[in-house]
Amino acid sequence: MINVAIDGPAGAGKSTIARTAAKALGYIYVDTGALYRAVGVYALRRGVDTKNADAVAQTLSDICVELKFIGDIQHVFLNGKDVSEEIRTPAASMAASDVSAVPGVRQFLFDLQRNIAKLNDCIMDGRDIGTVVLPEAQVKIFLTASPEARAMRRYKELQEKGAQDTFKDVLADLKQRDYNDSHRAVAPLKPAADSILVDTTALTLQESVEKVISVVQSKITD
Ligand code: C5P
Repeated sequence: MINVAIDGPAGAGKSTIARTAAKALGYIYVDTGALYRAVGVYALRRGVDTKNADAVAQTLSDICVELKFIGDIQHVFLNGKDVSEEIRTPAASMAASDVSAVPGVRQFLFDLQRNIAKLNDCIMDGRDIGTVVLPEAQVKIFLTASPEARAMRRYKELQEKGAQDTFKDVLADLKQRDYNDSHRAVAPLKPAADSILVDTTALTLQESVEKVISVVQSKITD
């Protein structure tokens, strides 16, 4: 199977770029952030403090998280219910960032991610795909952009959904998540030693997709 790992900070355009490139290449697209978001949403629902690692770890025995592909669209199920929309709020983003620092949560989601990659040609995006989940992936890309460019993209997405968040709030949240993701003890966000850096600050979506496809093609025909 061909496995492409795309890691990078929030808002670098990973999901849109990875989804579009996967479609063009005929691979499935796996968004692993959705898994951490589902765990975060469960903790929020239960009123669990997402910063309390022990309390979060205790919820895991009550959770079943599944990914299902309907057409080529990934849906995430939490205890049998499709939560693909519910996981997209700013509160769910922050909860996901908190729970993702809990080693038990990462362990809990590890096999699910690896099993999908074992069975499918895929582009999988996340924070630790090239470093931890799929260290043997044939292609590893670290996708990034400046914090301001990333926050502006997130802000526009939220505005389109009618959310009230200000640009300042979005930028502050994003910097906080960057900090959390790159400073946690387990599986911190960092480029794999053998990854290729793609900076999308000055690229359009189309250019970013083309760049990713060309990196994949050059690696798999090596
Ligand atoms: O990619 P997305 O913004 O949906 O991810 C939500 C959060 O889940 C991230 O801020 C990060 O803390 C966590 N995450 C992770 N490892 C992954 C994917 C996401 O820790 N592979």
